[in-house]
Amino acid sequence: MADALPPLIPGTLYLVATPIGNLEDITLRALRVLRECDVVAAEDTRRTGQLLRHFEISKPLLSYFQFNEARRSEEIIERLARGEKIALVTDAGTPGISDPGERVVRAAIAAGQRVESVPGACALVAALTASGLPTDEFHFVGFLPHKSGQRRNELTRLGQLTGTLALYESPYRIEKLLGELAEVMPDRTVVLARELTKKFEEYLRGTPAELIEATKTRTLKGEFVVMVAAV
Ligand code: SAM
Repeated sequence: MADALPPLIPGTLYLVATPIGNLEDITLRALRVLRECDVVAAEDTRRTGQLLRHFEISKPLLSYFQFNEARRSEEIIERLARGEKIALVTDAGTPGISDPGERVVRAAIAAGQRVESVPGACALVAALTASGLPTDEFHFVGFLPHKSGQRRNELTRLGQLTGTLALYESPYRIEKLLGELAEVMPDRTVVLARELTKKFEEYLRGTPAELIEATKTRTLKGEFVVMVAAV
């Protein structure tokens, strides 16, 4: 069967989704692209190195982390122009969703290079589909700004939209966010999707006030997707 698969296309940037916790969530195609590409462009070479080792893949790694991203995008584009097949991976999930992959993709497209998606795990999709909230209309806003005033303005604006809201939040700001939601959208149902695909995966549901009450008896740790039901 493997012989029948078409080879990778030279000069293509492959956006390879990687697991968001559970290593079984890598796809067969992701493994093949990682094995057959010329180089793996990684957000964090140490982290991606561990992933590749787990799957017994040995490949040159190129770092494009945010700090030197502009220069690394150039290098990626030069390599694509030379006909290299590049697998781009981020720390976890689908490259381009709230991570530095987005800018590399834009630079590659602007330079006329071919970009192909190798779909797989994405925290947003995993969370939303199991949240029980409507999925026919949803607004994904990634991470909110850090400054309190900007956050409040953004939440007020988002509160006027129809459809489910979905956002990413760091564990350090999750309680702050619940406090803000209690002020701006006190009557909404909030679903916190925590540690998806990992050992302590759970969904916490309630109004912002109910969830704040829950944090009095436990600390909210780990990675979160926060979803808010429409009115
Ligand atoms: N590109 C990734 C994706 O496809 O989901 C997201 C990258 S973003 C830098 C990282 C954020 O995604 C985390 O702060 C958290 O909000 C969310 N996330 C990632 N893995 C998660 C998990 N296992 N459970 C819950 N949220 C997760």
